[in-house]
Amino acid sequence: MEYKRSSALFAEAQKVIPGGVNSPVRAFKGVGGTPIFIKEAKGAYLTDEDGNQFIDYINSWGPMILGHAYEPVVNAVIEKTKKGTSFGTPTALETEIAELAVSMVPNIDMIRFVNSGTEACMSAIRLARGYTKRDKIIKFSGCYHGHSDSFLIAAGSGLSTFGVPNSPGVTQGTAKDTLLAQYNDADNVRELFEANKGEIAAVIIEPVAGNMGCVPPKAGFLEAIRQICTENNALLIFDEVMTGFRLAKGGAQAVFGIKADIVCFGKVIGGGLPVGAFAAREEIMAHLAPLGPVYQAGTLSGNPLAMAAGYEMLKALNNDPEVYTRLEEKTAYLEKGIKEALKGKVPFTVNRLGSMISVFFAENPVYDFETAKAADNPYFKTFFHSLLNQGIYIAPSSYETWFLTDALTYEDLDKSIEAIAKVEF
Ligand SMILES: *Cc1c(COP(=O)(O)O)cnc(C)c1O
Repeated sequence: MEYKRSSALFAEAQKVIPGGVNSPVRAFKGVGGTPIFIKEAKGAYLTDEDGNQFIDYINSWGPMILGHAYEPVVNAVIEKTKKGTSFGTPTALETEIAELAVSMVPNIDMIRFVNSGTEACMSAIRLARGYTKRDKIIKFSGCYHGHSDSFLIAAGSGLSTFGVPNSPGVTQGTAKDTLLAQYNDADNVRELFEANKGEIAAVIIEPVAGNMGCVPPKAGFLEAIRQICTENNALLIFDEVMTGFRLAKGGAQAVFGIKADIVCFGKVIGGGLPVGAFAAREEIMAHLAPLGPVYQAGTLSGNPLAMAAGYEMLKALNNDPEVYTRLEEKTAYLEKGIKEALKGKVPFTVNRLGSMISVFFAENPVYDFETAKAADNPYFKTFFHSLLNQGIYIAPSSYETWFLTDALTYEDLDKSIEAIAKVEF
């Protein structure tokens, strides 16, 4: 495949946009080479500026669960656009999508819409701190909750030491309120609560981690975290920016039967437009301005175009009870095919939950950030570039999950599996 136009566009972009991209992982730093510039997409396929076609396993990092340019979403946005793109006033559609979201997701009474997953998580911890009147939060190594300061914290040495920032610009003052735990290690969380009695406002977690590759929770792990939070009067925040409306209508809460106190959304909820949201039971949401003292706002929050896209997306998912079964079956089929195609060639591990799946080139099981790191190796880079050249687009990093779309056909999956079998390591 030729990437001439993409290369030229990338050179051009780098002069005026830092690194040529508006979000770092798009730059192919993890795999080397030049990012491809996409011109258009339909269903399960992307077309780049050179005219190359790809079967897409990124799907805008999750949102396009029903495929690109999904017609009900496209039409709704076009119709809304003709009537004005933003008013800065309440609109009827905001209540409609809120009612629909609250009806689909367990344990939430109220929802507030924002413009990104980052904003949703940032606001969720502010709300948790305001509600509990405590400062500290626990997050897990390898979990991503957007790029706000409190979440860009790497591990200190001891379990109870304060975190240290892993980005310049995040202050020590902020870092000291974020405690880090290991994913799938409930004892670690218990120890942090012991060492910080009465100080922890919330535990925030990706109920199925998707930002260190796909790392599902071990049996009993989420239950244990729920119990520890309850015992310590701390809130449990499920960051369902990836899992919400993807694993099931009700997200991971529904899949695992666990009650979170605050739930964060993004990605699918916006149908491909910039939308995030956070939700909780009424008693907690009542602390939010203008009802309560915890401030949170947004000029373009609840924007009519974004709400139109999100509403059509949620409606489509709500009205098609079979969609999650189809996604499960397609992804299970792909998983089986990948395992057969790679067998005996290289060490690998496949993790999957529903339509989230990752191939780790690691010998041992991957269940936390430490074990995920073993897969950041040259095998992945070879795999990525070989697939790209065969017209299969997976995320350009070993720390990312593949997101399947219902637009994929079994023919697409077979083609992908054949391409995987052809990779020469
Ligand atoms: C993508 C993601 C975010 C951040 O969402 P943005 O819309 O990129 O700001 C937060 N949490 C999780 C789990 C995510 O996957």
